[in-house]
Amino acid sequence: MMCHMVNIHTLDLNFQGLPQTVAAYLLQGPGGPVLIETGPGSTLPALQEQLGSHGYTVQDIKHVLITHIHLDHAGAAGWLATQGATIYVHHFGARHLIDPGKLMSSASRIYGEKMESLWGDMVPAPQERVVALRDGDEFEVAGLAIKVIETPGHARHHHVFKLGDIGFTGDTAGIRLPGSAFIDIPAPPPEFEREAWLSSIKRLRQANFKRLYPTHFGLVTDVSFHLDTIEQLVTKVPDWVKQQIEAGLGRDELVAAYENWVRQRATAVGVDAHTMRLYEMANPLYMSVDGILRYWQKQPE
Ligand SMILES: [Zn+2]
Repeated sequence: MMCHMVNIHTLDLNFQGLPQTVAAYLLQGPGGPVLIETGPGSTLPALQEQLGSHGYTVQDIKHVLITHIHLDHAGAAGWLATQGATIYVHHFGARHLIDPGKLMSSASRIYGEKMESLWGDMVPAPQERVVALRDGDEFEVAGLAIKVIETPGHARHHHVFKLGDIGFTGDTAGIRLPGSAFIDIPAPPPEFEREAWLSSIKRLRQANFKRLYPTHFGLVTDVSFHLDTIEQLVTKVPDWVKQQIEAGLGRDELVAAYENWVRQRATAVGVDAHTMRLYEMANPLYMSVDGILRYWQKQPE
């Protein structure tokens, strides 16, 4: 008998010393613990401490599911693999966990000298510990039946994991911090893709989720409001950016205008300055500008 009885714990990885920005999820299934997302290498001490508070050591974690290989989601996956975990990841991402050199050098180009303090180390995962997933795959871990839904748009190599009526959405459902109605769109370069993302949101609707767990951050229960909002953002934000480009704004002016616009929208729904800082730690606003600029550059005239 497959069983959906599961306890889900949100592990706060306290990214950069700030609460409720980057999560991992600990599932207690009939057959033991499962981790969804690992956070970056820089938050491994927090991950270990959080696991400890639920009575586990790293060596107890035999199954780790990764929505996509961005460092805030998967940076510590390789190290967990060296400690005995099997890592389940999109087939496009698998080779980058086994050989993270390319991933780390492209991240270094973006983050420069902040690389180490932000993300820490990314250890190669032993090849035999990596399971490559494809759209529609169904598998069982620790007595839990997981279905894989391919959801490109934020990144080409993105999966949402379906467990019964629960969706672990990575970045596909956007970013929403606890207690807030504000949702932010993470559209980093180089793979932000509006049409693919809108199709992915349709797939999330079709899955009839009752609960979503975005990695940034924690449980969402008003699923249709949430999906409506991220759909509107994915539709409209690129058009807003395009209008600014056509109005003649350069990249830096565009970043400043975008920051103003997002902060105003957040303030209008009651987000205070401290919470906005957390949003921006989870998703730097300039990054979405750069991702959407890149998206428009790739479009045929
Ligand atoms: Zn991401």
